[in-house]
Amino acid sequence: MKIFFKSFILVPFFLILIAITTGCIPGITTPDIISPSISKASIISFGINSFEEGKIELKWEVDGDYDEILLSRKEIDESYVVLERFEDTSQGIYSDINLDTEKIYIYKLEIKLNGVIQDIKKYSLFSSPINSNGAIVIYNIALNDSDNHQFEVEMWVNTKGTGSLNLKTESYCHHENTLKIINWDSEVYNGAFLSGNPDIGINISAEGISLIRYKAELPPISSTDIHGILGLFTDRFFIAAGTQHLLLIDESDKEKISKIYKIYNTNPYWNVLSPEYSHEDKVFIIDFSDIDGNYFAYQEDTVLSYPEGTFYTENDNIYGTEVTIALDKSISGYSGYTGKLFKIFENICSIFGEGVGERYCTFVVYYNNCVYSSENTYSQGFSQGFGIIDEMYAHQIFHRWNGWEPYETIMVTPSPWHRGFYSEGWNNYFIDWNLNQVKPGFSWDYLKKFYNTYKSEYYGTIKDIPVANEVGDIFIYYRKGACVAYILNKEIENQTGGEVSLVEVQREIWNRYGHMMGTFNYNDIVDIINELTGSDFSEFFNNYVFGKKEIIIPKFE
Ligand SMILES: [Zn+2]
Repeated sequence: MKIFFKSFILVPFFLILIAITTGCIPGITTPDIISPSISKASIISFGINSFEEGKIELKWEVDGDYDEILLSRKEIDESYVVLERFEDTSQGIYSDINLDTEKIYIYKLEIKLNGVIQDIKKYSLFSSPINSNGAIVIYNIALNDSDNHQFEVEMWVNTKGTGSLNLKTESYCHHENTLKIINWDSEVYNGAFLSGNPDIGINISAEGISLIRYKAELPPISSTDIHGILGLFTDRFFIAAGTQHLLLIDESDKEKISKIYKIYNTNPYWNVLSPEYSHEDKVFIIDFSDIDGNYFAYQEDTVLSYPEGTFYTENDNIYGTEVTIALDKSISGYSGYTGKLFKIFENICSIFGEGVGERYCTFVVYYNNCVYSSENTYSQGFSQGFGIIDEMYAHQIFHRWNGWEPYETIMVTPSPWHRGFYSEGWNNYFIDWNLNQVKPGFSWDYLKKFYNTYKSEYYGTIKDIPVANEVGDIFIYYRKGACVAYILNKEIENQTGGEVSLVEVQREIWNRYGHMMGTFNYNDIVDIINELTGSDFSEFFNNYVFGKKEIIIPKFE
């Protein structure tokens, strides 16, 4: 079932506000930044020199100490075959001829010293416009200027049989225009016609191949109040999702796309954490025929990478999920965090009664501002500015069950109601439930703040609306919603003498609708609560979920 468009943002907004008001890095002293000290031979450039049907000319330039350069080629899903070996030349051109015009080729350049690889770069392109049911796009992404947060992309677009195609820097999901293009140019082949520029959008018309080159930043300058810095590439880490550095096909054209390939070039001596990202063969293939709703969102698309020796990692198998935590060694006391991070994961598993999938990775970088990779199903990355044993980690993991494909529960609510109270309000309630168990001295701390804000700024004013309302500020469904979840839990416990709580309710919702089994709405939740408690919660929902009866929590006064 792919018709359930993610129509709102699943990020814990309150985190940012808390981080900003507390100066961003509570309880963490500034450490000595651990930087990689690597001076190996490197590939300065590797790419196209000329292009014509069935013939590709590549050029390359290398620098440093090496004794061997290998150029190899493969087709997608095949193995590399060495085309040529060079010894005493720092630059060269290689002409590959008689290529199959219906195939995509990946070339690999390796430089070695005493048999040890010093650097690898890959490059992929078509040798001709390919007949296909939709456009094919190849991104060659070179992460080549970590000091300046800059990278270069060559984007090959095959539009044979597609018609016109629009490209935009427009944000997808909630990645807010993070693509900052510094310069770009383009070429067209075999009849394609390209107009516009990335700032206003690019249109490719007619059939053929278009090549777009751009240099861009993953920079602090695109920092937002909501998520901090979205994606960052520095000499100590690469933390980003595809939407944050790619010029993408306009979402309205996505049915015209058949495949997207991404080839990343990072240093071979950088470790890659994200489970979806293979270091051996850095090729992503995204099949758009299977994607609806948010383009790129919640997919296998985050890259978390770091130089050898600069991160501390630990693994634990929790409810069948292999959980990896990697902490920047620049964070003081880094190894002391893993036990509690695993415990938070385990607590959430205990709510749902099972783990989620085979792998999950968490990547925490040290950076002076709040940095955030994206919302992804298989991994999350963020900076310590959000706190480490804190809401960001717990909130995002919780969304693996209640918000993101392919494990989520899919709630569909008829207007004027919105699933935000369930997705975000409950999530926020369970953050405090979780932190109560792992943070010494913590007792509903965030909920108390939400409750007091509700009382002082919302209740009795025009700003106060039902938590299930589809319109309104996010305080309502995130934070007032967490307070309603709190009193809902209390009422469930009261009605059952403590036998049932919101934990059992959430688990039963998961049992019935988890793994995207069908859809449900608030009435189905009421039915589950009624079954589990033997009471009728319709009035409670009418009062506090669909209505705005005053919430009273004496314990929080
Ligand atoms: Zn959220």
